[in-house]
Amino acid sequence: MQFHHHGYVSEDPRVQPAAGVGLDRQDRIPDELDVLIVGVGPAGVTLAAQLSQFSGITTRLIEKRPERLAVGQADGIQARSVETFQAFGFAEPIIQEAFWLTHMNFWAPNPEKPREIIRTARTDDDPAQVSEFPHLIVNQARVMDYFIEAAERGPARVSPDYGIEFRGLRINRGEEFPVSVDIHDAARDETRTIRAKYVVGCDGARSRVREAIGRKHIGDLALHAWAVIDSLSVTDFPDIRTKCAIHSEAGSILLIPREGGYLFRLYVDLGEVAPDDDGNVRKTPLEVAVAKANEILHPYTLDVKEVPWYSVYEVGHRVTDKFDDTDSLDDTPRVFIAGDACHTHSAKAGQGMNVSMQDTFNLGWKLGQVLEGRSPEKLLHSYSGERQVIAQNLIDFDREWSTMMAKKPEEFDSPEELADFYVRTHEFPAGFMTEYPESDIVGSAKFQHLATGFTLGKRFKSARVDRVADGNPVHLGHHHRADGRWRIYAFANSHAGESSDVTTWAEWMETSPESPINKFTPAHLEVDGVFDVKVIYPQHFKEFDVSMVPQLFVPRSGPYKLLDYEKVFAERPEESIYEERGIDPTHGAVVVVRPDQYVAFIAPLNRPELLADFFAQSMIVQG
Ligand code: FAD
Repeated sequence: MQFHHHGYVSEDPRVQPAAGVGLDRQDRIPDELDVLIVGVGPAGVTLAAQLSQFSGITTRLIEKRPERLAVGQADGIQARSVETFQAFGFAEPIIQEAFWLTHMNFWAPNPEKPREIIRTARTDDDPAQVSEFPHLIVNQARVMDYFIEAAERGPARVSPDYGIEFRGLRINRGEEFPVSVDIHDAARDETRTIRAKYVVGCDGARSRVREAIGRKHIGDLALHAWAVIDSLSVTDFPDIRTKCAIHSEAGSILLIPREGGYLFRLYVDLGEVAPDDDGNVRKTPLEVAVAKANEILHPYTLDVKEVPWYSVYEVGHRVTDKFDDTDSLDDTPRVFIAGDACHTHSAKAGQGMNVSMQDTFNLGWKLGQVLEGRSPEKLLHSYSGERQVIAQNLIDFDREWSTMMAKKPEEFDSPEELADFYVRTHEFPAGFMTEYPESDIVGSAKFQHLATGFTLGKRFKSARVDRVADGNPVHLGHHHRADGRWRIYAFANSHAGESSDVTTWAEWMETSPESPINKFTPAHLEVDGVFDVKVIYPQHFKEFDVSMVPQLFVPRSGPYKLLDYEKVFAERPEESIYEERGIDPTHGAVVVVRPDQYVAFIAPLNRPELLADFFAQSMIVQG
């Protein structure tokens, strides 16, 4: 973590100094603002935390609930989300308080005594070690707390406004603040109209923002229901601290051990709900759900002592026809929907909260760049373009997984079939199958062969390197903070101090008028204010020092023009990033990563003009 570059910092360095609109934040929501986020759920708070990094942007986050969510709803945190938490600065504390999910066990009827269940398989949760971060279980409320803290600590100081309900909107294209929004303030009992440049509906499955822009939720008419019981119970079921899929003749349960020990969650399957059920399934009493759980767990028993949360979660596989308000690429999107507002699916693959956060991580930096005049408005079309496909893939996967989970024991080809499916497809629920196609912000695969382990359009898979200035072993990807900046990694094709492609590349980046740094960085920002450029050398850190690398990689920042020593890295001999990520040290490569951590572009070191062409597609030249 770096601070002090604007002078000595003695207080908590995680609280960034307020700047711009964060200096005089008013309690009352202003009549005119840049971004209005509707809904304090995982999608809304991620967007708020991201936009709080843009000090020139006025963002408000409204929520109809009178206060923070205390308990319940989702709890599964895939490793991709933990990577995201790292970028927002709170992976470590949340990992400490969460339950680490490392295995999943499977139970089915004993063939000799079909009324009793037996364990049929034990699997590793992440057999391929797809991320250095664990799969976690922690309550949605805590995830939201951390994001809200990040939003309140960002320079623009974004904080939730509770007790404010979105009532409706109208779009008047061509105006400076084209979206008029009706909001109701419960405490003041006041309804008023405010005007925003952009509105983002993160208002859940029954989204009124979606309704207001006339978007349709398409999918199953019938819903699926689960009784969700968070309980403190005494049980003789031996795997109560391991995630389990339990199939018995009496039905099925998904068991999730919870953070803090002792507590666990049971999803007791209540089956398909007819379209004319009219909410009756939601009235299923807790006692009925507990009795059913006991039947499924037989011969084991469950003596429930306390239920901190009980709910019947009823949801269908649905995705919205488009995630913004435009039908034509000629119009600028003004209203977006994210999270459950545009896709819903079962809780079985534990995706709802995770995918919702990735939706707005995708949207946040784009809104930031457009509102700060760094990108044309057309960039905003890429949000719906990129995320709708992901939602559809998720729904297809979830349908397959739910169908497997809903099978009766006798319908499986073998007792291991479900476990095999879980292991074979684990990368999807872990969040790593997202692969954005070629576009203005994802380059062509022409030079993919230069860095085969950094797949274009997929998230940047971190690897360990040594930081040269202090010899610390660090994860390269963990330096990527959710600060709205792009990362450009130069993998050198020579040792430090030798004249090679990386030295001419660095000189071009620093001095050429065509360099993205010189073309697209506004004058008031630091030299690395838009592009954070780092170098990695294929040699051991003890063989060189930072005085031997081009000045580009040791830039000066802040009023004292202090040197930034944390951009120069060395390959670790025992775990070479070059080898692990398929980079030939005689050629090197340039790898560009988007602010939301997806690999955007790969180019040879000796073709710097390609970088200029790539960024010209999505950025505006700064005066
Ligand atoms: P949400 O978390 O739904 O947040 C939307 C927010 O918008 C809410 O706080 C809501 O009050 C607010 N809002 C809605 N309308 C307005 C308005 N007009 N004005 C202002 N604010 C508004 N997932 C699981 O995996 N397991 C579960 O057991 C589970 N149980 C759930 C139980 C409930 C009751 C709900 C609602 C969801 C549950 N989910 C569960 C789903 C999971 O919580 C979501 O997938 C996830 O929260 C999606 O995040 P989101 O930010 O898109 O929306």
